Amino acid sequence: MTELTRIPHWINGAPYAAAAERTGEVFNPATGIQTGVVDFASVEVMNEAVAAAKAAFADWGKSSLAKRVSVLFAFRELLNTRKDELAAIITSQHGKVLSDAVGEVTRGQEVLEFACGIPHLLKGGYSEGVSTGVDVYSIRQPLGVVGIISPFNFPAMVPLWFFPIAIAAGNTVIVKPSEKDPSAANFIAELWKEAGLPDGVFNVVHGDKVAVDSLLTHPDVKSISFVGSTPIARYVYETGTAHGKRVQALGGAKNHMIVLPDADLDLAADAAVNAGFGSAGERCMAISALVAVGDVADPLVAKITERMSKLRTGDGTRGTDMGPLVTKVHRDKVASYVDAGEAAGATIVVDGRNPEVDGEPGGYWLGPTLIDNVTTDMSVYADEIFGPVLSVLRVASYDEALEMVNVHPYGNGTAIFTNDGGAARRFQNEVEVGMIGINVPIPVPMAYYSFGGWKNSLFGDSHAHGTEGVHFFTRGKVVTSRWLDPSHGGINLGFPQNV
Ligand code: NAD
Repeated sequence: MTELTRIPHWINGAPYAAAAERTGEVFNPATGIQTGVVDFASVEVMNEAVAAAKAAFADWGKSSLAKRVSVLFAFRELLNTRKDELAAIITSQHGKVLSDAVGEVTRGQEVLEFACGIPHLLKGGYSEGVSTGVDVYSIRQPLGVVGIISPFNFPAMVPLWFFPIAIAAGNTVIVKPSEKDPSAANFIAELWKEAGLPDGVFNVVHGDKVAVDSLLTHPDVKSISFVGSTPIARYVYETGTAHGKRVQALGGAKNHMIVLPDADLDLAADAAVNAGFGSAGERCMAISALVAVGDVADPLVAKITERMSKLRTGDGTRGTDMGPLVTKVHRDKVASYVDAGEAAGATIVVDGRNPEVDGEPGGYWLGPTLIDNVTTDMSVYADEIFGPVLSVLRVASYDEALEMVNVHPYGNGTAIFTNDGGAARRFQNEVEVGMIGINVPIPVPMAYYSFGGWKNSLFGDSHAHGTEGVHFFTRGKVVTSRWLDPSHGGINLGFPQNV
């Protein structure tokens, strides 16, 4: 019998001592064994956390840029040094293989490094002498307490998209992690403490809808950064904005990879396998629909099949390529989409429903699955599946492929594979998707650009990190100033004009 670890909230610089009225079960997806119990916050506990964050804001919001950056640098060093420990925590609760967990922390760390440049990023404009003796300048100030609600699939990277910039800009933070893999956020909280961040600046409150709703409606919470499925993202956006908050809510995805007849098919096949099955397809930028244009379908499917035969599914701590799905319920749901595709007439080329695994029998296993002859009316195509299932759709022309992407309700990421620069350029101009790869399968922007999709993949007008992130976590002021000199004077009730 495994001893269960209690996973408490982290409020005001310490684990929250009092026992929770409600809790959630945490499992190791590679074994199917429960390993932890996570506390679920009541409204009262969330109120305590917000009060702690609000109190901390009084000092942190006014702290010098030099002070904030020194803490950020210390945190960056600690995160870098202890990356493997964090990755092991992620693998034990999410299931992704260790190398992928390290990769997630590294990509999150890039945002932290971007945020270390906050003194430069917060620089405003200054115009001397806009009128006689008058200067104008702009400044950006923190919002106050900000909320971050994250999904299960990137328990470290997604919070890292937001909190480094929020904290660097002088805000204080409440993170509400996914209840499925909550421990990464607590580990991060401990690192912040060690780095010298004042208590109350970074808080972690665990829970479900009760915790989320209390954040969304709390008058002292000024903004919400949400990442998760589209129905919840829409709800969070509508509820948060109705309560006067700034909201950025990133939702689900269905990412198409278009392969034109002139593409390098070996490169395309490698990319399709990496982007389709990495992290068991539980990435918002995973490729799940491969759109083969013209006569590339048969050779491409053959090349992908050959590569898939070498993939090893199993426990992420054993050097495998692909781990389990996050829960049994999710594993069964993904498998049911494969069943539905088969029943609707699609061809199952590689069937992952009864995989050979290097892992315990109780793990939530589903092997890489390739389905050919999928059509747009099938649920395996229309819905976000979020599993290791790659559908192949066959079309006759570029225009047909483009139309398919553009009418789909999601618009997170897409990729085109071609050696024709003109076709690629036309695609980047015409496609209605937020993040585009040209011969690159998972085009996650670097930290100094912003991350986010179009259509049902994002609600709100700010994408994550980059300069949009800095903008989201600050409010602007413009100051018009005049210092009197002996020449000033006189009453004039007219509208100010610049002379
Ligand atoms: P989810 O929507 O189930 O959960 C996200 C967060 O919302 C969690 O913290 C969860 O506790 C909370 N939540 C769940 N149900 C709720 C409810 N009824 N009311 C209020 N809050 C609720 O998403 P998930 O399954 O954890 O993550 C996978 C989803 O996230 C996929 O749809 C994926 O595409 C999406 N995602 C999107 C991006 C992006 O950048 N667009 C990135 C990562 C993941």
